Amino acid sequence: MKKFLKAILVLLLIFVAYILFKTFTFSSKQLEVQPVAKVSIPETSILRLTEALKIKTISHEDPANFDSTAFEAFNEFLKNSYPLIDSVLEHKTFNKYSHLFSWRGKDLTLKPIVLMGHIDVVPIASPEKWSVDPFGGIVKDGVILGRGTIDDKFSVIGILEAVEMLISEGAQPERTIYLAFGHDEEVGGEKGAVAIAKFLEHEGIQAEYVLDEGYAITQKLVPGVDPDVAFIGVAEKGSTTIELTVDMEGGHSSRPDPETAIDVLAKAVVKVKSNPSKGTVSEPMQGFINQIGPEMGFVNKMAFANLSIFKPLVLSTYESAGGAGNALIRTTTAPTIFNAGIKENIIPTQARALINFRIIPGETSEDVLNHVNQTVDDSRVKTRFFGFNSEPSPVSPVETSGYNTINKSIKEIFDGVLTAPNLVIAATDSRHFGAISTNIYRFVPYHINSENISTFHGIDERISVEDYENAIRFYRQLILNSKGQ
Ligand SMILES: [Zn+2]
Repeated sequence: MKKFLKAILVLLLIFVAYILFKTFTFSSKQLEVQPVAKVSIPETSILRLTEALKIKTISHEDPANFDSTAFEAFNEFLKNSYPLIDSVLEHKTFNKYSHLFSWRGKDLTLKPIVLMGHIDVVPIASPEKWSVDPFGGIVKDGVILGRGTIDDKFSVIGILEAVEMLISEGAQPERTIYLAFGHDEEVGGEKGAVAIAKFLEHEGIQAEYVLDEGYAITQKLVPGVDPDVAFIGVAEKGSTTIELTVDMEGGHSSRPDPETAIDVLAKAVVKVKSNPSKGTVSEPMQGFINQIGPEMGFVNKMAFANLSIFKPLVLSTYESAGGAGNALIRTTTAPTIFNAGIKENIIPTQARALINFRIIPGETSEDVLNHVNQTVDDSRVKTRFFGFNSEPSPVSPVETSGYNTINKSIKEIFDGVLTAPNLVIAATDSRHFGAISTNIYRFVPYHINSENISTFHGIDERISVEDYENAIRFYRQLILNSKGQ
């Protein structure tokens, strides 16, 4: 017995030693970069962003509400505000209001890069809750307010400002640089990004990398990490919607059958919702763990360094974080429409629900449909795909000159930030550029925190003047850094 206990103790010690060894050798992989001196940004740069914010380039769900005069005004704004870009860059429009600028590089043997953004914005749901006119182009106490500031006009204008500034300095890029600005990102991107990507594909363009929106510099949003963390999206989730319908005998509500169409459908939806797909550490998440794990305190670091042992714990931590945390580790389930009935005393003959799923890389919409059918397991519930469907994007590699250039440029402009790849849980226009490059990255240079995160598509959308100025510096630096290697 004593021998047995001894053996157990030895095994336990080996186990603990193994965990500690893995933890202490889980060392920082952060790129060491010296910050660069800040170039001065002219006052007029702020003015041009506020001018852009005043133009109501709203994408409405109903195409009948499309206001062409606003988008024409934006075309005019571009032409008048950036005379050097207008004279030096080639310019092509797509479906009148989406733009592709091409700035010819010195070395045409190098692959070009594509910097993306979108000029459309979402509508204002509750104008009375805004503290300022959402289209007033207001600057107050060092903050620029208005619909589109962070999504995504500061980025579009930031890129244009950087290019205009570089041309005025006499610069010409090493690689050809494409600026691709869609005008319908918020409603799917068919007329903008899709058309631009098709054109580039037709021209035989293969880009070294593509950079679009998707992630930003997070402040205190990663539990257990104190410094700011800039996430570079290396993949985005897919989206599919499944329609569930139940057709049954209806009748008068005074003599209901034990089960009606509503009952059967309600049970099915509850089953689907309470049996989500399995949690998983996707490839982008693994990249995040490799980069950020070593920067964490002992307990978190130990868990991340020994993922094979602590994976269930890590997954349950993300799951219980809810919302975005849960969305990072699995395909999410969101019932969005539930329809049945026309009168209070008639049992309907049909009930119908739509459930939207955001698919994690590694799974497909077909997997989702199979999972729904197996979970519901009731032949009275008919299922089918409904509407818009997109598979998760491929995962872009991080060992590329594109990723390194973005990574380095972030650290040169934003001193002391940590960087890491991650999975974007929403959709961006860059998903249409799969044929143009395997190296698609999603990052815009501004700080997001618990205070401003809800302003995204929300009330009092805003960016600090300082963030906007740094965005211009970032894009300038990125273009300068995008050389041949
Ligand atoms: Zn956006």
